[in-house]
Amino acid sequence: MRTILGKMHLKWCHHCNLPVLDKVCNICRNEPVKVELTPPGDARPAFEKEIEFIENLIKEQFGTNKDILKGRIVLMNKLPGNEDMQEIIIDGQVVANLKYDNGWKIIPKLEGARRIVNANGYKKIVVIKEDVIPYLLDKSSSVLRPGVIYASEGIKKGDEVIVLKKINGKDEDVVAVGRAKMDYGEILKAEKGVVVKVRHAEEPKKAYKLKTSKKNLRGLFKDMVKANEDVIRRFEENSVGFMRNTAKKMNLPITVAYSGGKDSLTVLLLALKAFDREEFNVLFTDTGLEFEETLKNVDIVQKTYNIRLIKEESNEFWEKLEEYGPPGRDYRWCSEICKLKPLKRLIDKHYPNGTLTFVGLRKYESFNRAKKPRIQKNPNIPKQINAMPIHNWSAMHVWLYLFKNNAPYNKMYEKGFDRVGCYVCPAMELGEIDKVKREYPELWEKWEEFLKKWAKKVGYDEKWIEGLWRWKNPKIKNKNNKL
Ligand SMILES: [Zn+2]
Repeated sequence: MRTILGKMHLKWCHHCNLPVLDKVCNICRNEPVKVELTPPGDARPAFEKEIEFIENLIKEQFGTNKDILKGRIVLMNKLPGNEDMQEIIIDGQVVANLKYDNGWKIIPKLEGARRIVNANGYKKIVVIKEDVIPYLLDKSSSVLRPGVIYASEGIKKGDEVIVLKKINGKDEDVVAVGRAKMDYGEILKAEKGVVVKVRHAEEPKKAYKLKTSKKNLRGLFKDMVKANEDVIRRFEENSVGFMRNTAKKMNLPITVAYSGGKDSLTVLLLALKAFDREEFNVLFTDTGLEFEETLKNVDIVQKTYNIRLIKEESNEFWEKLEEYGPPGRDYRWCSEICKLKPLKRLIDKHYPNGTLTFVGLRKYESFNRAKKPRIQKNPNIPKQINAMPIHNWSAMHVWLYLFKNNAPYNKMYEKGFDRVGCYVCPAMELGEIDKVKREYPELWEKWEEFLKKWAKKVGYDEKWIEGLWRWKNPKIKNKNNKL
């Protein structure tokens, strides 16, 4: 995966406690340390609201009474595949996973568990006999009932639990993290059997914490930009050079595709560096399923940069829906109707002889993208040549660039969304659907109403309405993709 998608850039300056994408930190000149995260490693910064959400989740789940993430940059790394899981990174290491599985859940790593215990999180702990510890460390074997001295009253089978060698409120008592295999009541009664299926075990030690800052998140973001100034400038220069060269080579009218998302905003900013404002037009196709914030953002961006915007709209979705039924991952009629058709119309009308369009695609986003050449004909609209100035940027490069330029990015990112496309999409994960329900209940209600109507008509059950609708033929779902 690493070789296909390119190298992972994310490192951490342990002196400044900031992510650094370069060989040295531009603030302290120290060498940053690689962050061990799951490839492709397209991590992004979390914003205030998301940080607060996670902080509260930790408090609820583990009973902590102190903040764990405060005064630090928090990064989120979405795991590849269909799993609804993100790694939470602070202090240069993955401290926990955030998972959606019929609700949001924290799955702590050992470093996370040490911080939880430090913050008095005793709601889900199991204390074991000292002589059991070597076995756990040796083979990461399970915690068996005879080795257990104490268990928190609230433990339910399936809970994430922290295994301690004793309780005295110290991080260095953490031995392991894992999943409970018994309820508290069962633990009391049982004489044998597995109490905790251990996920990670390690020699007890103190949490590896870096210094915290008194600054708010905005202040920390500013420091993060400062620590990365050289690398941001280098990436900008390369992409601007690529855009100028491509424009010269193609000799076509220049356009920039804008979607209201962070990647296309970056490309727009780069275009403003590479060309005069009058040399290009910006294209926006409204699918008719855009979030209000996205439409607002398009307006703001147009005004901020005084760009020439060409819009085209689709409003066929709801009408076609009655005919075709819900779009699925294996039945993507919606991209044809909502994206391709209006774009085709737009190109035919304004660029009958073709256009060179700069798009915000990045290879870190998917294998399919990684394999594509940097310049290629749009397979569906041959008149449009697409070029990808930021194909080698990670999400961190993009965010650093936007922060550095005080760019007016879509406010949806501050609500914890990874992507800002249509509010109904079969590509959505269940966690994403949950966020839409939470933040935009009225939008989702309209969709759910349709699903209920359709389910009744075709004879589908509740499970289908909850999420199986995302496949036309639910049987083709792979087994990792369980509801
Ligand atoms: Zn530094």
